[in-house]
Amino acid sequence: MPDGAVETSTEAAPAAAGPVEAEWAAAVAAVRAVPADGRVLLICHVNPDGDALGSMLGFGLALRRLGVGRLQATFPGPFEVPETLRGLPGEELLVPAAEAYPDPDLVVCFDAASESRLGDLVDRLATAGTALVLDHHASNTRFGGVNLVEPGAAATSVVVDELLTRLGVPLDAGIAECLYVALTTDTGSFRFEATTPAVHRLAARLLATGIRPGDISRRIFDTRPFGAVRLFGEVLGRARLEPAAAGGRGLVWTYATLDDLARHGQRPYVLEALIDSVRCTAEADVSCVVKQIAPGEWAVSLRSKGAVDVSRVAVALGGGGHRFAAGFTGRGDAEQVVDAIRDQLDAALIDVRR
Ligand code: AMP
Ligand code: MN
Ligand code: MN
Repeated sequence: MPDGAVETSTEAAPAAAGPVEAEWAAAVAAVRAVPADGRVLLICHVNPDGDALGSMLGFGLALRRLGVGRLQATFPGPFEVPETLRGLPGEELLVPAAEAYPDPDLVVCFDAASESRLGDLVDRLATAGTALVLDHHASNTRFGGVNLVEPGAAATSVVVDELLTRLGVPLDAGIAECLYVALTTDTGSFRFEATTPAVHRLAARLLATGIRPGDISRRIFDTRPFGAVRLFGEVLGRARLEPAAAGGRGLVWTYATLDDLARHGQRPYVLEALIDSVRCTAEADVSCVVKQIAPGEWAVSLRSKGAVDVSRVAVALGGGGHRFAAGFTGRGDAEQVVDAIRDQLDAALIDVRR
């Protein structure tokens, strides 16, 4: 945050220290060192969300303004952008992972807490001239050569904005739309705890470029096919409430299979929004959606209202994330996945007396 020195005591204290000056300087130098005809590869995490894609494309547009000629943006796994995130400015930078530069001059990773989130593209960390990591997960393993990791930041786009300021790239409407999508995604449209005065100041600067928040929010959050509406109805209808779980704080969970998706003619990414309906449950602190991605394999979303550090649960089960929003890949059937979660919940209770 450029004006960090004048933050008042009403600001939430960052969860942990962000990058030191030398790291910012090294990141600026790494970008400036790319020759005019150099190749830059931008990578965001598998199964990209609004923060991953928005931060990456916003930074890509800024590099284009800086005159970096050969730019690619990509992500591992199926080359499929969720419908709600299609049409973002800078989307023309996207290439399938198989076409990504094998040995770019610079690689920049977005919103990925660990190498595992880069899938098959992880080899670029070794083949690239320089590897730069931009992220906001407390669990980030600092797998880059230069790491800009700000655990107190509401979204990776906050880190991108700071780097753009230091690079002297002004915001334009294209960059701003991408960063706004990222910021609203990770703050739940400015509802979550990480929504600091600095977040609203950034939002104000983004809106000042003339972007249309109503249109953007409707597209990103409030649009889904009728088949998905029916699918949500079915999957929510089978949700289960376990009041005794998590030391009596309660767990609510549901699952969706590939067969459910097929019956309603839906793609897997439509289920990303489902957790937001499940986590409304008043009687449960912890909420969970178990989404089948292959036979015996499930993408798990976990949320907490504050009594449980769900990142501890996720990390214990091979995943990661934030304190109150985390995920992992589960094995077995849906019941077995939830059994494994239940076993971890008590150990992840946050001691509120501290
Ligand atoms: P999601 O429930 O997919 O929206 O993810 C919530 C948070 O958990 C995000 O910050 C993700 O980065 C993180 N996360 C989700 N799945 C995984 C995974 N398999 N491994 C590591 N982190 C994950
Ligand atoms: Mn993300
Ligand atoms: Mn994020």
